[in-house]
Amino acid sequence: MSDEIRLEPDCQQAVDKLYLFLDRELAEGDWDAVHAHIADCAPCLTQFDVERIVKELVARSCREKAPEMLRARVLTSIRTTVTVTTTERVAGPDA
Ligand SMILES: [Zn+2]
Repeated sequence: MSDEIRLEPDCQQAVDKLYLFLDRELAEGDWDAVHAHIADCAPCLTQFDVERIVKELVARSCREKAPEMLRARVLTSIRTTVTVTTTERVAGPDA
């Protein structure tokens, strides 16, 4: 048994649609499908949270400067995700 996180094909689809999902530009059926998947999938939930936070941060920084605490938290989230992705590649099926 291993704790590595591997993206399923469904995950890849959800991630591909993530920006449309966040912008609410998906058709209603697609939005529901992506939302249902993300809500039930830990790897996607992690990915989704990071993307959402970054997007909110960018949107907010257009109006005001992002608080240093929030910025630090987002950077930590991104680093955590990058670490998970790296581990996943190293321990891939070819190994
Ligand atoms: Zn997923």
